[in-house]
Amino acid sequence: MNHTNLYSALRQGFPADLTQTAIETDQGLAYSWSDLERGSAMLANWLESLSLPPASRIAVQTEKSVEVLMLYLACLRCGHVFLPLNPAYQQTEIAYFVANAEPALVVCTPANFGWVSKVAFQAGTRYVVTLDDQRGGSLLERAAHHSDVHTPVISQSDDLAAIIYTSGTTGRSKGAMLTHHNLSSNALMLKAYWDWHDDDVLIHALPIFHVHGLFVAIHGALINGSKMLWHSRFDAERVLADLPRATLLMGVPTFYTRLLALPGLNAQVCAGMRLFISGSAPMLVDTFESWQQRTGHTVLERYGMSETVMLTSNPCTADERFGGASKRIGGSVGFPLPGVSLRIVDDQGLPLACGEVGSIQVKGPNVFAGYWRMPEKNAQEFTADGYFITGDMGTLDELGYVRIVGRSKDLIISGGLNVYPAEIEEALNNLPGVAESAVVALPHADFGEVGFAFVLARAGVELQPDHLLAALKTKLANFKVPKHCRVVTELPRNAMGKVQKNVLRELASKS
Ligand code: AMP
Repeated sequence: MNHTNLYSALRQGFPADLTQTAIETDQGLAYSWSDLERGSAMLANWLESLSLPPASRIAVQTEKSVEVLMLYLACLRCGHVFLPLNPAYQQTEIAYFVANAEPALVVCTPANFGWVSKVAFQAGTRYVVTLDDQRGGSLLERAAHHSDVHTPVISQSDDLAAIIYTSGTTGRSKGAMLTHHNLSSNALMLKAYWDWHDDDVLIHALPIFHVHGLFVAIHGALINGSKMLWHSRFDAERVLADLPRATLLMGVPTFYTRLLALPGLNAQVCAGMRLFISGSAPMLVDTFESWQQRTGHTVLERYGMSETVMLTSNPCTADERFGGASKRIGGSVGFPLPGVSLRIVDDQGLPLACGEVGSIQVKGPNVFAGYWRMPEKNAQEFTADGYFITGDMGTLDELGYVRIVGRSKDLIISGGLNVYPAEIEEALNNLPGVAESAVVALPHADFGEVGFAFVLARAGVELQPDHLLAALKTKLANFKVPKHCRVVTELPRNAMGKVQKNVLRELASKS
């Protein structure tokens, strides 16, 4: 049956017995499948009582909780557009998102209600309600008065389900518009490709404002009717303790390096595990191999992005090409997934031979509908024949394995979260006494990468690196703030006057 509403597609995967546990939380709570169905119905009925225009944006900046998941499902049920925001974002960042997306409803924590509501009402938002991570706040109070039965609207397959804000080199965040069909087709394809089993149990320790935790992990569990062991945040000790009760873990490479640091990680605690998946940032081959040695499991690395959901994956099951073995290769992100066309091209857009590094372009039912209200970006980032230019550089080998070699946009990925140097540079440049700055990535054993800022002072001004970083912390979410800062007398430039970031990366790595 071809469901166009994503909620209906996910709902198809729920087990027949809705009284079974769907989610067990680290706060000791158990939610049944029926709780998810009824809770999201009540929220959906409340949303409908507001008579918002169809496809209204619902912006949500809260801590991780099952109630946020229910709100997401409620938005899908009503045909509204879910817009998750990292709880670390500060006032200026939220002001930008709210002005850009014009949400009809903003959900924030009770603690932030004062400033969030001010910013939101100024931007024309009609409703601001609150939700904390202990089931408190005005959102649930209002939904409590509504029926727990709700029929999802029939969505057109190109109706928007979510907007995920990402960034560009200019530092301005872009809202990637994902449709019901983008998300349901990717979820159904991954269900088969990753060979979800009836008795799979997923450890969910990722944030849910991002594609990895919200779409890949949650959709996977829901569409397969699998239980989730829900961690409000990643804590290596707690995840280790849950491994004997689980079969699946999805994580960023930092999860794996932190778990490897625990002496208790061994083959015995992983004996019941079926699959370890890693993505969002490159996994070091060293981590991949150490994991194999310690646990006997081979991590499956996959590659995707906010604009496309999942694009490539190492094989999960036996593959005829390898004589019936399932060959996952460290340092590779695997093959283009079924339905995804992936090509590697040069600067002129011409296909490159195997092994040659070029720009990765993709096409498929998973590729987003474009950037929210940015027609000029859509014109730039899609080719004439409909391929999306990912901004990643990579290679393809003879067998079809994709390797990511770098990011054309100089993205820094710290702990699995993207940090865009241009945005940090802009914030630094706005600080008193700063003439110019350049931020590059420095490899880091735990976070994968951290930012390293080079700052040029205005004439006659003496700058203190510590003070600059402290000032940045008041302007930006903590994960974006560089871990290192050096005040320099000049920035290296090429003949065209562009700052040479490769030179800076070398300087940073030698420090
Ligand atoms: P996001 O939109 O936040 O999901 O970030 C997407 C970007 O993360 C991609 O464009 C890649 O640069 C990077 N990325 C995701 N998965 C991987 C991976 N397995 N290896 C290397 N880079 C990755």
